[in-house]
Amino acid sequence: MNTEIYRFKLGTFECMAVSDGTFTYTPPNFPPPATFLFANAPKERLEQVLREHNLQLEQWVEWISPYICLLVNTGKHLVLVDTGAGGLGPNTGKLLQNLRAGGITPEDIDTIILTHGHPDHIGGNTNAEGKPAFPNARFVMWKDEWDFWNSDLAGLKVDEHTRELLSMLARKNLPPIQSQLDLIDHEAEIVPGIQAIAAPGHTPAHMALAISSGIERLLCISDAALHPIHLEQPDWHAAIEFAPQQVVTTRRQLLKRAETEKALVLAFHFPFPGLGHVIQREEGWQWKPIEMTA
Ligand SMILES: [Zn+2]
Repeated sequence: MNTEIYRFKLGTFECMAVSDGTFTYTPPNFPPPATFLFANAPKERLEQVLREHNLQLEQWVEWISPYICLLVNTGKHLVLVDTGAGGLGPNTGKLLQNLRAGGITPEDIDTIILTHGHPDHIGGNTNAEGKPAFPNARFVMWKDEWDFWNSDLAGLKVDEHTRELLSMLARKNLPPIQSQLDLIDHEAEIVPGIQAIAAPGHTPAHMALAISSGIERLLCISDAALHPIHLEQPDWHAAIEFAPQQVVTTRRQLLKRAETEKALVLAFHFPFPGLGHVIQREEGWQWKPIEMTA
């Protein structure tokens, strides 16, 4: 099974989920996965839910997360959503080679939407030398998000080492694209058929996207949920959320919308290709991954 690129159609739009690789979250650099992903979960309930997913709390020592970017050819625009992590980890930074395998060169891309400023979403903006990797693209980001990641990051509730790392990666990947940048401050239509949705919480101005062609809908939720268990337990939030309560509100709004519109959903960190539908289940939702046809 191909876990690098996955092509699908949305109305007349030709889309491709493109892997940037995977990253392993494990101690000592990160808390154990369950603590990292479900920071506020009551222990007994957590153990029970994990068991339903064939996971044991004590034995679950690493979370191997995919990083999944999205390419959309609308016919008029070739749009990339997020640029992956670059050289952050030994198994990341595969976006360009996977795009090439899919017949796309960096020069072909005319629009890049950055959902937020975390290093796994902006890390491919520049190459190893710090030069823009997508010379012909107009970059689009939410204004408050841009401003935050170009600040001293004082509002981040992380240790100094992490703050310095995030700041260094933002400095490497954001200022070099400034001359290619369009900032938005409302739920604008970025290109025909792709609309920004304010989805704050994970970061100060995290952005989701509503993509539509004909009657078909795709909701790109980026990091509003990091793991399928966040759908079943929408009130459980990760340790890294900028504003945990806001994450919960945003997530519930997006999932309700996805279910109402019967939209296809793309989640950046879910098992490849990160595509599926959500159905209501008890107090939350259930993830129904698509069946990969190729
Ligand atoms: Zn992420």
